Amino acid sequence: MLDTHDRSDRFHEECGVVGIYGHPDAANLAYLSLYALQHRGQESAGIVSSNGQALLAHRGLGLVADIFDERQIRRLEGTSAIGHNRYSTAGSTVLRNTQPLVARYTYGSLAVGHNGNLVNADELRLRLEHQGSIFQSTVDTEVILHLIAGAQAPTLIDRIIEALAQLRGAYSLVFLTENAMVAARDPYGFRPLVVGRIQDGDRQTTVVASETCAFDLIGARYERELEPGEVVLCTSQGLQSYKPFPREPLSRCVFEYIYFSRPDSKLYGKSVYQVRQAFGRQLAREAPVEADIVIPVPDSGVPPALGYAQQADLPFEMGLIRNHYVGRTFIEPRDAIRHFGVKIKLNAQADVLRGKRIVVVDDSIVRGTTSRKIITMIRSAGAREIHMRISSPPTVGPCYYGVDTPKRRELIAANQDVEAIRRYITADSLSYLSQAGLYVALQQSQAGFCDACFTDRYPVPLGERPKGSQLALFELDR
Ligand code: AMP
Repeated sequence: MLDTHDRSDRFHEECGVVGIYGHPDAANLAYLSLYALQHRGQESAGIVSSNGQALLAHRGLGLVADIFDERQIRRLEGTSAIGHNRYSTAGSTVLRNTQPLVARYTYGSLAVGHNGNLVNADELRLRLEHQGSIFQSTVDTEVILHLIAGAQAPTLIDRIIEALAQLRGAYSLVFLTENAMVAARDPYGFRPLVVGRIQDGDRQTTVVASETCAFDLIGARYERELEPGEVVLCTSQGLQSYKPFPREPLSRCVFEYIYFSRPDSKLYGKSVYQVRQAFGRQLAREAPVEADIVIPVPDSGVPPALGYAQQADLPFEMGLIRNHYVGRTFIEPRDAIRHFGVKIKLNAQADVLRGKRIVVVDDSIVRGTTSRKIITMIRSAGAREIHMRISSPPTVGPCYYGVDTPKRRELIAANQDVEAIRRYITADSLSYLSQAGLYVALQQSQAGFCDACFTDRYPVPLGERPKGSQLALFELDR
C-alpha cells in the first residue's frame, strides 16, 4: 500500500461517498463516516447538509481531520447530510473539483457526490455546452447536475432517473436536496454502495456509504447493498426503491477485494479480510516455495500474507515496519539524499530478515517501482533469498471505472512478461495469483465481476474523447 504512484497525467478518480438522512447530528455522522472512508481518497473532502430550507457546504483539500473542525460541523446544521472523499489529479484546479458539488436550479438546490468514472462524460459535456451549459468544474459529476437541471420530468426522482439513463460507465451516487436524499448505483454495479439504519427509540436514520466500515464507526446496522441499477429515495415519508433501468451484466469491481476496500468492510456479502486471506492461501497452493518466513508489504499485503503463511505452514513475521504518519504534505528530500526513497514509509528489520529465505506478499504490482525498492531494501537487510508473491493476477489494463491506475504504457505487466518483471524487481522468484485462482478463492464465478485490469475485457468500452471542449471555470467555494 505504498503511495509511490506518480499521480500526474491521470483523470481517473478514487472516491468514497456517504449519506445520512433523519438524524439531528447528520453532519457529524457524515464526518465520522468520511473518516472511516479516508483510504478511498485523501486529497479532498466535503460535506453538504440540509436544514430544510437551504443546503450548507464545507469542502477543502487534504485529509478529513484537517478540513473540518467543530465550528464547521456545527455550522452544517440540519438532519440530513452527504459527504465525499476524493483523490484527484494534483493542480491548481483541485478545489473547484471538490465534491459534493452543489447547484441551484429551477426546483431549488441539489448536491451530489460521485464515486466512479463515466465513460461518456466528455460526449455529454460537449452536447450540454453546445446547448448553453457553463461548467464550473472538470469532474464528470458536474455533467449529472446539468442533465438533471435540464430534465423535463415533474418530480425529483424522475428528473434524476432521466439524467442517469443518459450516463454510461460507473457511478455510485448520493444526492441531497432541501428535503430529500437519493442514492443510486449504476446498472453494472461497478462500485459498491451499501444501505444501513440507525434505530434510536422511534427515530430511524437511513445511511448509505461506499463501505460498511463507515457503519461500524457510527453505530449503524448494515441492511443490504444497493442493487445495480437501483435508485433509492429518502424523504420524510420513508424510503422508496426504484429499478428503472434495463438489466446489464453484473460487473462488480474485483479490485475492491484485492486492494481498495478496507479489510474490515463487508463487500458484496463477504468479509474483505477473509477474502484476502483466501487469496493468500490460494497463492500458496499455486506458487509454493522453500522458505523460512513469510512477510507482508504492510498494510495491503497483511491479510494475503497471513493466508499464505497458514497454507504453507511457515512463520508469519513483520519484516517491514510502516510509518503511519507519512502524509501527503511530506517534503520530498533533495536529490542528494533521495536514496532514502521507500525507507520513509517502510523500514526493513534486519534482525528478522538476516540470512533468511523470505516470501514477500503484496496485493499488486502496478509499475513495479515499489516492489523493486522493497526488494533492494530487504536484500540489503541481509535476506538470503527473496520470493515475491502477488495476491492478484498481473495488472494489464488501466481502470476506466474509478480506480486510479496509470496509463497502459506505465503498467509493467501490460508490457513485460513475468520473467522480465522478476528481473526488473530483482526477486529470486515471482508469482502472481492466477485468474482462475482468484475466483476459486472467492468461491464465485467470474461472471459477476469486472476484472478488466487483469483481463483487458471492459464491460463498457471507453468511447472516443471528443475534442474542443471549452470550459468556463470559476471557484465554487467561498
Ligand atoms: P507500483 O510501485 O506502481 O508497482 O505500486 C504497487 C503498490 O501500489 C502496491 O504496494 C499496491 O498495494 C499499491 N497500489 C495498487 N493499486 C493502487 C492504487 N490504485 N492506488 C494506490 N496504490 C495502489
